[in-house]
Amino acid sequence: MDKKNIGVVGSGQMGAGIAQVLAQSGHDVMLVDVSQERVGQGLAAIAKSLDRFVRKEKITGADKDTILERLSGTTKLTDLSDADLVVEAVSEDEGLKKKIFAELDQIVPAHGILASNTSSISITRIAAATNRPEQVIGMHFMNPVPIMKLVEIVRGLQTSDGTYEQVRALAESVQKVTVVAHDFPGFIVNRVLMPMLNEAFYAVHEGVGSVEDIDVAMKLGTNQPMGPFELADFIGLDTTLAILNVMHEGLGARYFPCPLLQQYVDAGYYGRKVGRGFYTYDSSK
Ligand code: NAD
Repeated sequence: MDKKNIGVVGSGQMGAGIAQVLAQSGHDVMLVDVSQERVGQGLAAIAKSLDRFVRKEKITGADKDTILERLSGTTKLTDLSDADLVVEAVSEDEGLKKKIFAELDQIVPAHGILASNTSSISITRIAAATNRPEQVIGMHFMNPVPIMKLVEIVRGLQTSDGTYEQVRALAESVQKVTVVAHDFPGFIVNRVLMPMLNEAFYAVHEGVGSVEDIDVAMKLGTNQPMGPFELADFIGLDTTLAILNVMHEGLGARYFPCPLLQQYVDAGYYGRKVGRGFYTYDSSK
C-alpha cells in the first residue's frame, strides 16, 4: 500500500498502539493529544514497545529508529491539514468525539477518511457531526494493538463502500484480520464481552466469590488467557464503565453497569493505567 499521512488523535494506550502499527507499516503518523506531556508519554510508550520487539529479535535497532522517524507529535488538530486518514482514539465520550470530528471535518482535506476507534458509540451519530458522513467509519483496534490481530470495522448508516474498502485494505496491509460490524451499541466484540465482565462485577458485589477466585475460575475453567478482572483493569475501568453506559442506554436494562464498577471509577481506580483497579500494580515493573 502507498505511504499515507495519518493522524492519530489521542495518545493513550490505544492511540499509541495504533500509531505504532501504522508507522511500522511505513506510514507517516502524527500523534495528537491535549498536552506535550501526553504526546510525549505516547511516543515514549511506542519506543518502549519497539524495544521489546528488538529484544525478541522481531525487528532490528535500525528498524526501530526508522519507525520512530516516521512518528511526530503535536497538540494542534490543525497540524492534520494534509492527512489522508485520521484515526480518533480519545476517551470514550460521545460529546468529545463529535466535537473532534466536527473540527477535523474543517481541517482534513476533502478526500480524507475520518475513523473512530470507539468501543461502543454510534458511528452514524459521530458521522452526523461532519459534512462527510460517507467518509466516516469505525476502525476498532484491540488492546494491545501491536499484538492483537483483530480490527472490527464498523459501518455507519452512510459509510460508503469506497471508504469501507480503503479502511479494510489498510487494516489488512498492517497484518490485521478484519470483521464487519453494523452500527449497534458495542458492535460485535463488546456486545459479547461486556455482559460477561459486568456479570463478574456483580458476582463479587453479591459475594459469589472473590476477584482472585473468579479470575482463576474463568482462566482455568473456560480457557481464557485473562480473567475478567485482569481484563477489565487492562481495558481501563473508566472505559469499561463508559462502554456499559452506552450499551445500557442503547440496548436496555440488562446492560446496567454494576454499582461496584461505578464506585471503583468514582474512586479514581481506573485500572492498570493508573496503578490501581481491582488489583494494585507496581509501575516500576
Ligand atoms: P486512554 O485513557 O488510555 O487515552 C485517552 C487519550 O485521549 C488520553 O491520552 C487523553 O489525554 C486523550 N484525549 C482526551 N481528550 C482529548 C482531546 N480533546 N484531544 C486529543 N486527545 C484527547 O484511553 P484508551 O484506552 O486509549 O481508549 C481510547 C479509545 O479507544 C476509547 O474510545 C476506547 O473506548 C477505545 N478502545 C479502548 C480499548 C481498551 O482496551 N482500552 C480497546 C479498544 C478501543
